Amino acid sequence: MPDVSAAAGVQRVKYLEEQASKFAPAVILFGSPGSGKGTQAKLLRRCLQGPHISTGDMLRQHISEGDEIGRNVQGVMKSGRLVSDDLANHLVEERLQHDDCSSGVILDGYPRTINQAGVLLEMTKRHRFQPAVVHLVVDYEKIVARLSGRRQCPVCGTLYSVTTNPPKIAGICDLDGAALVTREDDRESVIRERLEQYELQTRPILEYFRQTDVPMIEIDGQGSTPEEIMQQVCGALAASGLIAASAVDALSCSEANVRQ
Ligand code: ADP
Repeated sequence: MPDVSAAAGVQRVKYLEEQASKFAPAVILFGSPGSGKGTQAKLLRRCLQGPHISTGDMLRQHISEGDEIGRNVQGVMKSGRLVSDDLANHLVEERLQHDDCSSGVILDGYPRTINQAGVLLEMTKRHRFQPAVVHLVVDYEKIVARLSGRRQCPVCGTLYSVTTNPPKIAGICDLDGAALVTREDDRESVIRERLEQYELQTRPILEYFRQTDVPMIEIDGQGSTPEEIMQQVCGALAASGLIAASAVDALSCSEANVRQ
């Protein structure tokens, strides 16, 4: 006579092992400054659970709080250079341990160096995440033109573009008549510095990830609306098994053009 309780016990252990082996997705949004990572991070929450973790936003938060971290990074960030790996790694590791990350995370602006990429892979193992890279491919010259043409009203915060969305009177806010300004980090010299840092320090990470078994999804970040790009990314994540197909069906993305 078979030992039913022992068989049930084995089944239970197997079930628990299977559950434990299911890692939450850690989607790494990758692309140069101005490639639309921030916009996609927000839209992707329609097919992915979990918070949008932006190291840039976290650092700006420290600056606005005027704490020690904020005071230390202010100058570096203004110049377009990168803050230290140790600080970026520490901020992310601490954040990944919050309860809201248990069903997944969307990383934006991290990792930015090979050191950060290596540390992140270790962290994903330790904290049980399955990493995947989503690379938003864009043309640099178009980015420089777009970011350096951006103007902002210092009073109400409205953004204009001198080429695609100009104010009615050049240099003046339509809403309150204030003189528009160029944000410090949208000046062409700073944008060029940010792109140079990307080229030197961040772009090589793609090669690093290609040598690992981290899934890599390449999406054209220009030429489609942000909504269409989001649908392409969600479709590709589902096709790689990173998220459930039902999460994408819910987006009714029948016309989405999915590329990998
Ligand atoms: P963008 O993608 O437009 O460059 P971010 O908001 O991601 O903007 O970053 C703004 C700045 O914050 C960077 O130029 C850099 O100084 C700093 N920063 C953000 N994330 C990192 C990181 N992972 N490592 C080092 N520096 C970072």
